[in-house]
Amino acid sequence: MPLTPTAAFIEGRWTDLETRFVVRSPVNQQMLAEVSDCGTREAEAAAQAATVAFATWRQTTVYQRAAILSRWADLIQVHAEDLARLITWEMGKPIRQSRAEIKTAVALARWYAEECKRITGESIPSQFPDKRLQIWKAPIGPVFAITPWNSPVSMVVRKIAPALAAGCTVILKPDEQTPLSALKLAELWAEAEGPAGTLQVLPSSDPAPLAERLMADPRIAKLSFTGSTAVGQKLYAQGSPTIKRLSLELGGHAPVLIFADADIAAAVAMTIHAKFRYAGQSCVAANRLYVDDAILPEFTARYLEAMSHLKVGDPFAEDTDIGPLVSEAAVQKFKAQLQDALDRGARLLCGGDAQGLWCSPTLLADLDPQSRIFHEESFSPLLPIQGFRSEAEAVARANDTPYGLAAYLWTRDLGRAYRIAEALQCGIIGVNDGAPATPQAPFGGSKLSGLGAEGGKWGLEEFLQLHYVSIQLP
Ligand code: NAD
Repeated sequence: MPLTPTAAFIEGRWTDLETRFVVRSPVNQQMLAEVSDCGTREAEAAAQAATVAFATWRQTTVYQRAAILSRWADLIQVHAEDLARLITWEMGKPIRQSRAEIKTAVALARWYAEECKRITGESIPSQFPDKRLQIWKAPIGPVFAITPWNSPVSMVVRKIAPALAAGCTVILKPDEQTPLSALKLAELWAEAEGPAGTLQVLPSSDPAPLAERLMADPRIAKLSFTGSTAVGQKLYAQGSPTIKRLSLELGGHAPVLIFADADIAAAVAMTIHAKFRYAGQSCVAANRLYVDDAILPEFTARYLEAMSHLKVGDPFAEDTDIGPLVSEAAVQKFKAQLQDALDRGARLLCGGDAQGLWCSPTLLADLDPQSRIFHEESFSPLLPIQGFRSEAEAVARANDTPYGLAAYLWTRDLGRAYRIAEALQCGIIGVNDGAPATPQAPFGGSKLSGLGAEGGKWGLEEFLQLHYVSIQLP
């Protein structure tokens, strides 16, 4: 277990609190650390420090901020193996996937270090010869960021790198399961000479009071939240009195549409990855497989073959594909959704076992459309497969969800690819692509999957506000 700070990081100082909470690893149930447990008092101190630091940070040049971000990216790279091991200890992701997450985090930090140099304004023509109309872009102010446990490093970087690059200060509350990797990122930010108060990290075992305090604080300009829809809805309501700007990256329930003309080998390989990485605990996981009736038997057989090669086991072993789920509650959800589908007449094609926190990759067929698994996020290696007869039916099934984050489709017909992609109600679509997310592209959803986007220039815009300046020449 790599050494990491366990104190809160407030105003550039490590603040060791008497109240602490225990972080346990899903890998062996052992205690990883006792971490300072922040509440409203620390929230108040952090809000004050973020406000003071913002006054200076917003005036740094983008080149100064880019240099710090770039040093931070280098340090994340230097500490890549420690950070990857931390991720695996904290939430059980197989080590190869944790290393891939660090690569993504480094790429995101580097991308925003460059992109902030392209924050430009505009000049618009006036109908009066002696007037100049200008639009400037300014950082919106101190930001409150809340992140989940499933990608505890890349998700933090995807949120805070654009905020810091824009000139905002950030108060980060990481998930209570994964505070250590976030504190490590803060340590590296300080080492990269990020000024005091620009990034603060407040771990908390009971986030509601701390969050309510910051949501009510008019000095906090924005909330950027990634997590469940239920918590996002609460925070949305809390933002109303201060008209907080909000970015919400919430739950997903991605459908996968496989058409008869698809490259089946590629579709199998990529959807296996898109579903089973992180044991299915990804907001863009391929959660519902819909396959053209004409190829359903062949596709199912090949999919089962590929699933049989997935190795479930020790997440620190180099060849493990599926580690433990994050918690006993996650295993209970896996079991409940499986039982519900079976009770409604589904056929278990493979898997179905759970030992401790390890659940086997599970494929279900012949499901009742009312089954919970079609309507709730699974966040586990449980997957339903269902046939369809027409494009219209495929699209109707894909869109039959309150979520709208990601969707995937496989076809060799360009016209069909456009028709389906245009009809899908979601923010991210992979056409013959099981891994569309990349630093320069937007990542965000519609419907109950959220508001706004992270990634790319859009992720930076979320932290900028327009200043329109009309100048009457003398
Ligand atoms: P969660 O909503 O329970 O927790 C997420 C974060 O919110 C944690 O930091 C948690 O401490 C905090 N939180 C919980 N209650 C809070 C409250 N009352 N006030 C303020 N903060 C509170 O989410 P989870 O179930 O642990 O995480 C998985 C969820 O996150 C899934 O729904 C998944 O789809 C979603 N997610 C979305 C994206 C995306 O980019 N759209 C990415 C990853 C995960």
